[in-house]
Amino acid sequence: MARLAQTAGLTDIQEEILSTVRTFVDKEIIPHAQTLEHADEYPADIVEGMKEMGLFGLTIPEEFGGLGESLLTYALVVEQIARGWMSVSGVINTHFIVAHMLKQHGTPEQKQKYLPRMATGEVRGSFSMSEPELGSDVAAIRTRATKSDGGYVVNGQKMWLTNGGTSNLTAVLVKTDEGAEKPHQNLTTFLVEKPEGYGEVLPGLTIPGKIDKMGYKGVDTTEMVFDGFEIAADQILGGTAGQGFRHMMDGVEVGRVNVAARACGIALRSFELAIEYAQQRRTFGKAIAEHQAIAFKLAEMATKVEAAHLMMVNAARLKDSGARNDVEAGMAKLIASEYCAEVTQEAFRIHGGYGYSKEYEIERLMREAPFLLIGEGTSEIQKTIISRGLLRDYQSRG
Ligand SMILES: Cc1cc2nc3c(=O)[nH]c(=O)nc-3n(C[C@H](O)[C@H](O)[C@H](O)COP(=O)(O)OP(=O)(O)OC[C@H]3O[C@@H](n4cnc5c(N)ncnc54)[C@H](O)[C@@H]3O)c2cc1C
Repeated sequence: MARLAQTAGLTDIQEEILSTVRTFVDKEIIPHAQTLEHADEYPADIVEGMKEMGLFGLTIPEEFGGLGESLLTYALVVEQIARGWMSVSGVINTHFIVAHMLKQHGTPEQKQKYLPRMATGEVRGSFSMSEPELGSDVAAIRTRATKSDGGYVVNGQKMWLTNGGTSNLTAVLVKTDEGAEKPHQNLTTFLVEKPEGYGEVLPGLTIPGKIDKMGYKGVDTTEMVFDGFEIAADQILGGTAGQGFRHMMDGVEVGRVNVAARACGIALRSFELAIEYAQQRRTFGKAIAEHQAIAFKLAEMATKVEAAHLMMVNAARLKDSGARNDVEAGMAKLIASEYCAEVTQEAFRIHGGYGYSKEYEIERLMREAPFLLIGEGTSEIQKTIISRGLLRDYQSRG
């Protein structure tokens, strides 16, 4: 067992955290995932368990009450959690991105105000860039914050907020009038504190109900509507307007490693299910694993699981070293999500007709994998980022 997706050179602490999480996933997540997912039910007990393990503060510095662990530790934890159920990793992912943005770009007051309570899970983060008419083209954001009486008034509509209803702190990217020539220099991230729940949660701020999705159930995804919502200027992340695009892109860069890690987890679980099933199911007098066509599928699936894991680990380590990892994070996200879609598809085929039954886990994994091709930037956007980076580094001397 456990030959795939191993990581060399981990510290004792990292090994211990991973072993604890792996046990938690096997005992507390996998046995309940199908039922909760089919009921579209929020995994409240699992979330409580993650709070107790300190996972909400995994990467928050120790001075703010967190465990001060690296992006690599986080990514390996996410890989394990997604192996159990991707929606659970969705609960902590937006939280992790907001904590990262605060840690890197927040003012000292903002860090003190939020990070200790984020470490315990009392404050839970979500982040919002997308709008009904844009996702990839972030610089085209229309939601606008205009200055008024020392603060700002926000109007507009945001879309696709993961944890929009169950978070109480949302980092929202909006347009402000900085008079800059380039559109992305007129974007600002506001830290919007709000109660959890749906409807008009604050004057001028509405979270309509959950969007009904194909998969990724249990975790809520919502819209966010601003209609004359007033917010103080000191809720601007980092204190200075016009820096929001840079802050969000930094958040999304670590988010891409996280999406790659989720894809690795789902692909690993699909492989585990397929290799087990292939040894149980018999056709033409032998286990289907003994038909070369199936054995070769397993070999290809395992190779993809391994390749994606190594690229994800490389991208995480690069970011942890302080180096820019836009190209490597893009590559890891691209290959892990595409391979994940292929591996789940092959695992589904190996299950024959049973793969189409809701009794079998692969049915759920098949519906989860497509989201990874879209979230934190589609494959086309990853290729744009990768090719730009390559042309920057391999500039023609001719
Ligand atoms: C379940 C779910 C959860 C989400 N959670 C969040 C969240 O928490 N916060 C948040 O801000 N967003 C979130 N999103 C939004 C997500 O990031 C966007 O859906 C994604 O970035 C794609 O944007 P879009 O849907 O507007 O597609 P579009 O940008 O309209 O793209 C449509 C198609 O055109 C292609 N395309 C676009 N531009 C180019 C180009 N220049 N060259 C080639 N092809 C191109 C795309 O690859 C895609 O195939 C979530 C989405 C989903 C489905």
